[in-house]
Amino acid sequence: KGRSYTKTAEAIDNLLGGLLSPNFDEQSCQSRYQSSAYRKPSPHKPSSYLLSRLRNYEELHKRCGPKSPLYQKSIHQLKSGHSMGLMECNYLVWSPFNGLGNRMMTIASAFVYALLTNRVLLLHITEDMLDLFCEPFPDSTWVLPSDFPVKDLEKLNLGSEQTYGNYLKNKKIKTDVKVMAESLPPYVYLHLEHDYQHLDRLFFCDNDQQVLAKVNWLLIKSDIYFVPGLFFLSLFEDELKWMFPERETVFHHLSRYLFHPTNSVWGMITRYYISYMAKADEKMGIQIRTFSWMPISIENFANQILACSWQENLLPSINQNMTQAGTNGGRTKAVLITSLNSEYCEKMKSMYYEHTTSTGEIISFSQPSHEETQHTEKQTHNQKALAEMFLLSYCDVLVTSGWSTFGYVAQGIASLKPWILLSSKDQKAPNPPCRRAMSMEPCFHAPPSYDCKANKNVDFGAILRHVKHCEDVGNGIKLY
Ligand code: GDP
Repeated sequence: KGRSYTKTAEAIDNLLGGLLSPNFDEQSCQSRYQSSAYRKPSPHKPSSYLLSRLRNYEELHKRCGPKSPLYQKSIHQLKSGHSMGLMECNYLVWSPFNGLGNRMMTIASAFVYALLTNRVLLLHITEDMLDLFCEPFPDSTWVLPSDFPVKDLEKLNLGSEQTYGNYLKNKKIKTDVKVMAESLPPYVYLHLEHDYQHLDRLFFCDNDQQVLAKVNWLLIKSDIYFVPGLFFLSLFEDELKWMFPERETVFHHLSRYLFHPTNSVWGMITRYYISYMAKADEKMGIQIRTFSWMPISIENFANQILACSWQENLLPSINQNMTQAGTNGGRTKAVLITSLNSEYCEKMKSMYYEHTTSTGEIISFSQPSHEETQHTEKQTHNQKALAEMFLLSYCDVLVTSGWSTFGYVAQGIASLKPWILLSSKDQKAPNPPCRRAMSMEPCFHAPPSYDCKANKNVDFGAILRHVKHCEDVGNGIKLY
């Protein structure tokens, strides 16, 4: 089986229409070359402009990346206590926050911002993130060196004096006068977490971006997919249009460009896929995630999932009459369940074991792991999460849980519009139980509402042409 996958991988375009650079060693990161053999080719081609921007970015990253003389020069500038005009390399340093799905949302968002502002993206990789992703940029690294002079990056928060908002509040940065780079601090921390306030949200204004462009080092911590907000800025409008003529493919292309599981994680993915999914005629993924602030019992949520699957014809209904044994020529459907909890899978497996289906199809249910509770601080736990996001992305249809970035990653890499399970009300399943997503893009959960040009609050989801309110998060917006 393994060999036939490799053959198919060779036969099809395994560099995704030029999205991926050919300048890598295949053995060091097998998923980069093999992943495309596990799914149908994407119907979305990256624009030639995006491809040329990526190749230029790779050159920039190589020239300015860690260990380069230009990186050393920028580190000197950082230690000097202020920004400097005309530096050849400028940087965006990302730090992790929240679960892996959230982290992947923000790495992708930070990368779009880095492309738009010609900055080099470096990641502060904590122990829990080791051996997850291959290097995405050839002949360099995206890992921030451990001797980076700003320490305790994880501790930066809303109240830190280096946030953009606090620099504005304390008049250390002024946007109403012409600013010289030398009058600006050596770095600014962009606090784009869900609790961010008005002054930090000015990040999404043209004026503020013109000032931030003069700061050589930007540090960023976020847990939201903020790409739709970059579309608010006139400064970035043309570039975004050229790079992504199909707006709803931003995360799709960039997640396939950036995120390649390392060989250890790829081993988990392929072992599971070949054992439980490969032979089925159809593959369905159900991503089950509940949140403590939106409680619902396992029984109610399982019923909601079944109601959605039956109503939308994703799963055949079951015959209460046990005597029938028809199997419709043995057509099989493999349902991959991902969840922290094992009860959902067990319930559905028993149901379809004890009864025949209305179509005669044979439905199998399997679940790679059940970790019980979230442990983002544990590296092996994160490896499983990544493996499961990829396994979901190899399905033909997806049912995902509203509000969950874990599901957003899977749908984006897959280029699927999932059926989204909507939030419970008073601990009960809502009616309808799910809605089909209008686009495969992730939802921006906490968009700003301040219209910088008009100087008033507005509802961007209602007035802008290219974004709409999300199906799952009322105040959120997504590109479509
Ligand atoms: P979100 O909180 O649903 O937006 O997604 P995140 O990925 O940011 O955080 C949830 C974390 O909980 C994941 O990264 C995993 O660590 C864990 N988790 C949640 N659901 C699953 C699951 O179905 N499988 C596995 N292996 N881990 C999960």
